Amino acid sequence: MSQDLTWDTTPLYPSTTSPELAAAFKESSSRVTAFRERYREQVAGLSAPGLWEALRDYEALQELLVKPQLYAHLLFAANSEDDDNKRLSQKSAEFGNLMGRELLFFDLEIIQMDDDKFNPLLEQSQLAPYRHFLEALRKFRPHTLSEKEESLLAQKGLTGVQAFCRLFDEISASLRYHLEIDGEERELTGEDLLALLHHPDAGLRERAFSTFLKRHQENEIIFSAVFNNVALDHSQELELRDYRHPMEPTNLGNEIPTPVVESLMRVSEANYPLAQEYFRLKAMLLGMERLKNCDVYAPLSESGRNYSFEEARAMVVEAYGGFSEEMARMADSFFTQRRVDVLPRPGKSGGAFCMGMTPSLPPYLLLNFTGNLRDVSTIAHEVGHGIHYLLAQGQTMLNYHPPLPLAETASVFGEMLLTRLLLQHETDREVKKSLLCAKIEDIIATTFRQNVLTRFEERMHLERKSGLLTANALCDLWWEENGKLYGDAVEMIEPYRYGWSYISHFIHARFYCYSYTCAELLVLSLYQLYLKERESFIPIYRGILADGGSKTPADTLAPAGISMSDSAFWQNGYDLLNDLIQELKGLL
Ligand SMILES: [Zn+2]
Repeated sequence: MSQDLTWDTTPLYPSTTSPELAAAFKESSSRVTAFRERYREQVAGLSAPGLWEALRDYEALQELLVKPQLYAHLLFAANSEDDDNKRLSQKSAEFGNLMGRELLFFDLEIIQMDDDKFNPLLEQSQLAPYRHFLEALRKFRPHTLSEKEESLLAQKGLTGVQAFCRLFDEISASLRYHLEIDGEERELTGEDLLALLHHPDAGLRERAFSTFLKRHQENEIIFSAVFNNVALDHSQELELRDYRHPMEPTNLGNEIPTPVVESLMRVSEANYPLAQEYFRLKAMLLGMERLKNCDVYAPLSESGRNYSFEEARAMVVEAYGGFSEEMARMADSFFTQRRVDVLPRPGKSGGAFCMGMTPSLPPYLLLNFTGNLRDVSTIAHEVGHGIHYLLAQGQTMLNYHPPLPLAETASVFGEMLLTRLLLQHETDREVKKSLLCAKIEDIIATTFRQNVLTRFEERMHLERKSGLLTANALCDLWWEENGKLYGDAVEMIEPYRYGWSYISHFIHARFYCYSYTCAELLVLSLYQLYLKERESFIPIYRGILADGGSKTPADTLAPAGISMSDSAFWQNGYDLLNDLIQELKGLL
């Protein structure tokens, strides 16, 4: 029985020792060599049919290269303690790095082609399927260095900024905490402590969060050194590559103009009072005078409802079925075709993910299902990613992955479908209140909170330019930006001054946080469109997902009549949040 709750990777390769897998590594490596011999220093001279052929070869190569790596990744995620899996994972990482460096020339030569040569090529209809890929690449033209310089920077980065990032990870993972729970002293990890923010006991929530933050304060020398070096490295890179603002490289990669991002952030700030209204409501629901920031995620009732996996699966499929039969069938295929690993166990990766594969391989899901409502919601989320990838399989490899600002569309939309289904079925008023609160808190966490993080990050990069930021200066910046969100509705606990020091996005994914805000507001708008247009909305939504990465976000969203550069669009999303808050008030 439990056999059915793990995934079946044999459609990729029979086993880690199979000759098919060994052959795949060998074949892709020799094809990379052949590709390099054929095209190195030749790209600038290619005609339209020549470039088309090169791109076809290039994406076939990418598809070939990635398959053994995806297999290695799946096995390692399912069991990282197995020696075969460890060896394969390490081999695959080194292989991927080497192949990436071998192929680096191709992108660079496209980027460095003269405009006189490149622009007429782009007009050729034969290249239309790669137009977006080529244009997205060329946007980096003013900011790219020579192959030698790029290669040197990448090499020195290993002992430079990347070494600080690794140190951050190792220090963070090594921290252990002691906390008394029910009169018993326990040793806990940081993850365990943060999970206690969902505990019903207010005193325990505050002790857990304080314990976590104070340990970070004790390590402030390391954390502030890491943050300063990350910021200094970035400002040097901005100068070398001729960027004007710390967010510019990210925005260019996301294909969202900087003024649009600024408008997203300003609209979010203008709506902070909405979050404050909710925090006051939540204080009332918990019977508190005023919330502390460790109370924001407190549960409303002591007893959370529990679901079996079979129930959860059926609910998720039903939620999608209420929207589209096709999507319900796709959702179900993950379970019937065993492309999901369900239960937690030692050695298995934590959290949850959906791994998009290739146009010829369907995606896989990893869950750590324990039976609470958040776990059910996670299934709806990851299945949404899965549906997105399944629909994008109509695209070729270079057009398969959705752009970052749209990457969370189907997942968050799926969560919304589930919440609506649960609210519809639920007759118990108390459970209804809990469901609404969970949804509202989720939206606040992915919009307002991410906006606070982005503003902090922006100021950190800007202010680092004029000199070293001490730990205390970082604390002040953090306190100020958070204070804007919480206002007088929430009291921030003193140790929270060090809240910046554990956010790994600042270290690993610069300015990623606003992507969450962007995605959440987009989905709220799409959902409103659905409520208004019902049946006629479904093919439009399907088209957005099926576009994969073949167009810019703006072009993908155009059929829905959505324009991100219109600030009313962002406000629209917050209006739906307001509706949810009013709906909750109606239940009180
Ligand atoms: Zn996601």
